Amino acid sequence: MRALQFIGDNRAAVTELDVPVIGADEVLLASRRVGICHSDIELLAGRYIIPFEFPVIPGHEWSAEVVRAGAAVRGLSVGDRVVGECVIGADHFGFSISGAAAEFFVAKQSWLHLLPENLSWTQGALVEPFSCGYYATVRSGQS
Ligand SMILES: [Zn+2]
Repeated sequence: MRALQFIGDNRAAVTELDVPVIGADEVLLASRRVGICHSDIELLAGRYIIPFEFPVIPGHEWSAEVVRAGAAVRGLSVGDRVVGECVIGADHFGFSISGAAAEFFVAKQSWLHLLPENLSWTQGALVEPFSCGYYATVRSGQS
């Protein structure tokens, strides 16, 4: 599969990688839309708010389609449309762990949310940045 990798300070490449192998509680996803965030530009420049190592596959604003589900995954099926969380415990998806800027990527079921049928792939990729803005507004007491 093809993947966008940040391979060093201000160095990016489209590389050929093996399709990831999933664990029992994981899902293999096919990227449908992936946004580019200012944080991605910082990452490419070698800066981010938590430690990370090159090479890294960016992409934390995305929508994707389930193409394979692990044996322990319940409630998600091949063909389901999903979006996902970008902060997972100590890890940040698309920064300290591989993100969605690849033909295929892996996520744990617990990170995922079904994308309603009335939202497009593009709108799905905007759920994460919208949520950041919404959360910031709620936190600041504005509405
Ligand atoms: Zn972002």
